[in-house]
Amino acid sequence: MKTLLILLATFLFAGISVGQVDENWIKQAVVDRLLKYVRIDTQSKEDVREVPSTRKQFALARILLKELQELGFRDARFDEEHCYVYATLPSNLSDEETEKIPAIGFIAHVDASPSVTDSDVNPVVHRDYRGGDIILPNDTNQALTVEKNANLLKSIGDDIITTDGTTLLAADDKAGIAEIMTAAEYLLKHPEIKHGTIKIAFTPDEEVGHGPKYFDIKGWGAKYAYTVDGGQRGELSDETFNAQVAVVTFNGRNTHPGYAKGIMVNSLYAAGHFISLFPEDMRPETTEGRQGYLHPYDLTGTEEQARLKILIRDFDTSGMKAKVKILENMREQTLKEFPRVRIRLVITDMYRNMNSVLSESPDVVGFAEEAMKEAGIKPVKLPVRGGTDGSQLTFMGMPTANIFAGEENPHGKLEWIPAMSMVKSVETIMNISQIWAEKRAIE
Ligand SMILES: [Zn+2]
Repeated sequence: MKTLLILLATFLFAGISVGQVDENWIKQAVVDRLLKYVRIDTQSKEDVREVPSTRKQFALARILLKELQELGFRDARFDEEHCYVYATLPSNLSDEETEKIPAIGFIAHVDASPSVTDSDVNPVVHRDYRGGDIILPNDTNQALTVEKNANLLKSIGDDIITTDGTTLLAADDKAGIAEIMTAAEYLLKHPEIKHGTIKIAFTPDEEVGHGPKYFDIKGWGAKYAYTVDGGQRGELSDETFNAQVAVVTFNGRNTHPGYAKGIMVNSLYAAGHFISLFPEDMRPETTEGRQGYLHPYDLTGTEEQARLKILIRDFDTSGMKAKVKILENMREQTLKEFPRVRIRLVITDMYRNMNSVLSESPDVVGFAEEAMKEAGIKPVKLPVRGGTDGSQLTFMGMPTANIFAGEENPHGKLEWIPAMSMVKSVETIMNISQIWAEKRAIE
């Protein structure tokens, strides 16, 4: 009886799908892929009009195309101009069943963040991590400390992948690519796992905000999608900020400063006064979680004219409106102090909270939560304090949530990823595929 109880408990704790899939095979395959992909420099570049912003992203995209072809994805194709890779994993259900299931897509980005160099990445695998800080071998000033990385202690016994301390790892988002590829390979080899039509895409320039620009949503054909680009294990995001930018222009009057008495109107004082009015509790440096902010980030000017740019961010439309109102009041107050300065406030939309659309298709997030639970992990819903490719794709007509790829400390030399997070991401992708089929056709 006792043994039976222990067995039962082990089974329950392990989650339903564990034991049904070969985690050892998945781990080997997904880690090997990550180690291969991170060695290819794919850094993107800010302020470039063309997509991709750097030619080097083509190298990884071509490798992925070849891999997909070798795995047997007959329709795999490559947008040679803009560096997108697309493929389809056909449904393994009957035509009649397949028709009832929307095509589901998985997306990861090939580019790496411009924040730190991505060339000559030399990944280090710390096998069977035993606890304690990890000093990175080629720059001993770079240490992954338990103090700052609480998740390290959850990874005891796991393999941890880091950089050598001198570059990015770019597991953001090469882990996502490795996970989608591995899930696709596993599903191909295991037709007993039933799924509808699954779409795969790899995109350029996510880190510089241009990933969706030339995304062929129609040609690709997914109705709903998931970006595999979140951080730690369990992360699931269906919410982003709403984003606007405000430009405030202060117009004064310049003249020779030696003969300016009674004539000059210096716009800079008005700009300075305006800046002093920003509420302290509504700044990026004083807010977190679901709080929005107002953030002056660019100021240029002369006596004649000053220009201030401000980010407006909030998860709710009402919060956005309230913040615009604050800026209008600040303008009024400044005008009272500087009646001879003309002040103009112009607001432009940047992106919107994708939740307004995603909440109309609750299965997208609901099935992802279920998929994670089946893989034995707890979904952690995190509102994204920024925009994602998903927020743009959602408003382009394809509701897209974001699920974890598993990396920690992205965009820096201390980036790391536990192998088990990658395994769980692969399982989550496969479970999502299976759940859509089960709920929509097989039932
Ligand atoms: Zn990313």
